[in-house]
Amino acid sequence: MLRSLALLIAFVLASPAHAASAGDAAAPQESWTVIHAGTLLAVPGKAPRSERSIIVRNGRIESVQRGFADPASVGGGARLIDLSDSFVLPGLIDAHDHITAKPGRDKRNWITTKTDADRALYGAYYAKLTLKAGFTTVRNIGSDGLAIYALRDAIKRGLVPGPRIQAAGSFITTTGGHGDRSTGFRPDLFYGIDHDGICDGPESCMRAVRYQIKKGSDLIKVMATGGVNSEAQTGVGQHFTDAELEAIVTAAHALGRKVGAHAHAAGGVNAALRAGVDSIEHGAFIDDESIRLFKETGAYLVATLSVGDHVLQIANDPNSPMSEAVREKAREAIPTMMDNVARAYRAGVKIAFGTDSGEPEHGRNADEFLFLKAIGMSEMDAIVTATVNAADLMGLADEIGTLEAGKAADIVATAGSPLDDISELQRIRFVMKGGTVYKNK
Ligand SMILES: [Zn+2]
Repeated sequence: MLRSLALLIAFVLASPAHAASAGDAAAPQESWTVIHAGTLLAVPGKAPRSERSIIVRNGRIESVQRGFADPASVGGGARLIDLSDSFVLPGLIDAHDHITAKPGRDKRNWITTKTDADRALYGAYYAKLTLKAGFTTVRNIGSDGLAIYALRDAIKRGLVPGPRIQAAGSFITTTGGHGDRSTGFRPDLFYGIDHDGICDGPESCMRAVRYQIKKGSDLIKVMATGGVNSEAQTGVGQHFTDAELEAIVTAAHALGRKVGAHAHAAGGVNAALRAGVDSIEHGAFIDDESIRLFKETGAYLVATLSVGDHVLQIANDPNSPMSEAVREKAREAIPTMMDNVARAYRAGVKIAFGTDSGEPEHGRNADEFLFLKAIGMSEMDAIVTATVNAADLMGLADEIGTLEAGKAADIVATAGSPLDDISELQRIRFVMKGGTVYKNK
């Protein structure tokens, strides 16, 4: 018995699989790819160039060259990806996503019947849809429970396909505020649904922020004001006090986390900007003072026109389950949001691309480009919001957002030029993330 066990151990130790896992095999294999780009928009905001080659080594961009490089000249048995008939640009970034959230009108049913495990599995499915739509990175700005961290880490390890995820944890919100998910339910049944982001008073809020970071948050999402699409009968004005907002930002920044503030009414937007948040999400009712503060602080406006359109459609559907109070808020806020984003754009406020997918369908993220076009944004500027600007907002400008030497090989392509027709971005034909091809048709 002992002898056979010893033999078994000897066999296992000698097997090739064991040798590989022990790390004593040869150095990891070099992987080289040459991409021939018919037209290349390497740095959105600068002019595209025709006939360029992107050399990718081990998932990173080694160089960008003029002309179509011969793979044999690169060495390492480089493979060729022929996109000589395509328009090639950096992988797209959605800076306002909820990738574990199920879209649909049955939110209350979802909240009360689904577990964290459901969120993880649905999230894996939505992550794949999002990646195939050309979005190689998302800023997941608020998600209950722990599923989002498991999904983020599994994608990073290559266990499931999906975009890179920068994840906020639970919303930081006041008791009964937008984001307190138990609002509107019978208190004896549902009080305390995912309540670890609910806080009142500066100390309580600092603790809530630190607790999100303890769980794994890469950034903090705060509900600075009320929201349109929630049953809380507290309007869209400022919810947190100035002192609470300052405490939240101080606690987050001290631990190296940025803060994105959901905010609608101008008073709440401006209080959040004065407290030092890094972005305002939605910002339906921004005013001249908001625009001044945006420019003074350098904060981004994450315009989420997709969710505006989505919520307005539900509000205008008499058969939808939306309450009259929410319908009224939506009819007032959404058209104003379109006007105000246009105003902010004309005034030179920095805008980052966001959709609020999870309310609208996942994988339709590129619809936002059409809304940006509709408010008067140029095609190039719209692409900048979803690449250079979103990367900067996320603190990932050294890693993603442009196709330059040293950056991650996050690369997408369309048939025609999105600079001529922005809807090309709704028909992404090629997706590479970190050097791995996820779509090529
Ligand atoms: Zn959102």
